Amino acid sequence: MSFPETRMRRLRRSDSLRALVRETSLDPGDLIYPLFICPGEGVRKAVGSMPGVFNVSVDEAVREAEEAAGLGIGGLLLFGLPESKDEHGTGAYDDEGIVQQGLRALRRSSAAKTLVLIADVCLCEYTSHGHCGMIVETKDGWEVENDTSLDLLGRTAASLARAGADIVAPSDMMDGRVAAIRAELPETPIIAYSAKYASSFYGPFRDAAGSAPAFGDRRGYQMDPGNVREALRECELDVAEGADVLMVKPALPYLDVIRAVRDRFDLPLAAYSVSGEYAMLKAAATAGDLDERAAALESLTAIRRAGADVVVTYWAKEMSAWL
Ligand SMILES: [Zn+2]
Repeated sequence: MSFPETRMRRLRRSDSLRALVRETSLDPGDLIYPLFICPGEGVRKAVGSMPGVFNVSVDEAVREAEEAAGLGIGGLLLFGLPESKDEHGTGAYDDEGIVQQGLRALRRSSAAKTLVLIADVCLCEYTSHGHCGMIVETKDGWEVENDTSLDLLGRTAASLARAGADIVAPSDMMDGRVAAIRAELPETPIIAYSAKYASSFYGPFRDAAGSAPAFGDRRGYQMDPGNVREALRECELDVAEGADVLMVKPALPYLDVIRAVRDRFDLPLAAYSVSGEYAMLKAAATAGDLDERAAALESLTAIRRAGADVVVTYWAKEMSAWL
């Protein structure tokens, strides 16, 4: 049957009709809120490039968590800003490290009853050079060494799990890191940043996490933006190594990758809507060029429509209040 019998506009007549037949929903429980934990007490330091995002001390992190739990948000993704950094990133796997302290405090709070506590596993926030693995000198200059980094990533994940992480999420893009972590932690769920691209959209995050590399870039370990088949190979390897959830990062410029992973794998799929995606809309909204709430809702819905089950987003709190 075609027009005039078929009229697609019939189901678009009212809010309630549109809601009834909407194919993709957004629920606070599907959202993960990133949190940047820093030393001190009562600290709540605004991140210049990301309006509404703060570096928070452990006590403030607990308050954030309680608020997030009250809004029905699914989980927190924890990053750390250590007091000091060194060549080997020891702050990452120190049981007294900043995220470990945060995890123990969060574990004791009422928020932990409903929030899933996810700990980012990487070295770049803790290394003086800002790379995600160990640096070795080569005849051409330097290289991020894969296999020695694995040992430290495994130790980091084990330390974070001991401190109370429900899930560990390796974001370093070293080969074999999921297997290295799985060997340490047979029982802990792993969200693998399987398809993490070397993206310019991470710029504002590096401001938030203080993790910009001191030299070079991350293209020797993160993925080339032109590739999607390679993303599927990365996912396949992570599944074989024992990942429980796959992740694509960034989200909005990589909706085709999210869809391709969704179609190929049955594991739960996460997408990280990164700092640049957030900062772009914030800037346009601040300039009065678009409606932030509508644009954020549309962006996150698109990420879910592409196939992501859960979305890591800096809008998690605002969005949950809007929903
Ligand atoms: Zn890193």
